[in-house]
Amino acid sequence: MQDENKLASHVEDIKRALNTDLSEEQIKDEIEIYTEKYGVPLGNAKRSIIKKYGGDPQSVSKGVEKKIEDITSDEKGLAVKGRIVSINSKEIEKDGETSQMRYGILGDDTGTIQMNLWKMTPELEQGDTVKMENTYTNEWQGEAQLQVGDRSTIEKIEDDEVPSHFNQLNVDDIRKDMNGVVLSGRVMSVEEKTFTTDDGEEKSLFSGILADKTGKIQFTAWHDFGLNEGDVIEVQGGYSNEFRGMPQFAFSDNANVNKLPEDELPSKEELEKISTRVKSIGELAERGSGIDVAVEAVMIDIKDGSGLIFRCPECKRVIQKGACRVHGKVEGQADLRVKGVLDDESGALTVIMNRELTEDVLGYDLEKAMEIAKDEMNQAVIKDDIEDVLMAQSVTAKGNVSTDDYGVMLIANDIEMNQVDVEKEAEMILDEIQEVR
Ligand SMILES: [Zn+2]
Repeated sequence: MQDENKLASHVEDIKRALNTDLSEEQIKDEIEIYTEKYGVPLGNAKRSIIKKYGGDPQSVSKGVEKKIEDITSDEKGLAVKGRIVSINSKEIEKDGETSQMRYGILGDDTGTIQMNLWKMTPELEQGDTVKMENTYTNEWQGEAQLQVGDRSTIEKIEDDEVPSHFNQLNVDDIRKDMNGVVLSGRVMSVEEKTFTTDDGEEKSLFSGILADKTGKIQFTAWHDFGLNEGDVIEVQGGYSNEFRGMPQFAFSDNANVNKLPEDELPSKEELEKISTRVKSIGELAERGSGIDVAVEAVMIDIKDGSGLIFRCPECKRVIQKGACRVHGKVEGQADLRVKGVLDDESGALTVIMNRELTEDVLGYDLEKAMEIAKDEMNQAVIKDDIEDVLMAQSVTAKGNVSTDDYGVMLIANDIEMNQVDVEKEAEMILDEIQEVR
């Protein structure tokens, strides 16, 4: 037996397809005759009834049901089951007439999708589970967008027909250009920034760092969700983009942001420790980025451009023979840095150490370095000193990892020499490199 609710929606389908004054009772009777007396499947019965009364049977064709991740941007007659992540309504003007529409995000266990509902019934709220049939999709900002039009049906279904957990990602799963992301994390820091829109309107955004057990990520909220440092939040319907070679997580007022219980994640201090646990370079290279990560690796090369260098006072580029590539002949500003290559057998990356870290390694400061270079009449001696300390040395380097055209790079904010006896291991790695060459 069909339950009453479902039957009602089928009756509605037929009524809409026929556009006659056949009553709901008459339609119900017809359905019963076809399905129970003749044993015809419901879909066929509906089409037969519509045909019998002069309607277009194709108009109730429900199409194929798909999971959200399988939906492409040119579907027709699409059926989809999901949970309402967010829903809002707005007024739109078309041909001088105003009407209401609804928009939001629908999710299932495989992902989420933006949707436009061109009908105002049934009433829907966040968390409702629905089946929508005879919908279609088009492309919006490079993604499929679900359109629920006049000829589509929206049916509320039992809560357990859609898993309550969407395609939940971890921080270290986030890559650039993802959409419909569901992510939970603890707000490690958050700060309000104001900006001016193209219309000259002053607006606020909120940016900071979000962390879970797998890592940290920068985030930007384009709406005031009342986020506080330490909050554990779940964001449904976020997206990602790229900022300085690292993926960044973002969400607007279209997203659904819930505060979760405090104990859903380890404390801020714990997460801080977890995120700086040593990771393999192979893993970081695969991911392409990481905030406040640590690697344990052997320094296998100190590149040219390490040691005492001079920078253009205008653009900070390293200058060659007193001339900047952009600004020509300039009075260079002295600086110290290391550009090295770290290898942990799972992979290699370029490590950049700033003046402070380089001074620590050298055991003398920039002034002293300039003195030494002057005495020796050779600025390369500083690079030699760096090599003496760092080459074939196992170090633990901490900092931010990003990827650009030149590969994976770690901008270090801390370098520690590992005291363990690794000379042999280092020699082996260097031997291997020699062999490869
Ligand atoms: Zn310059």
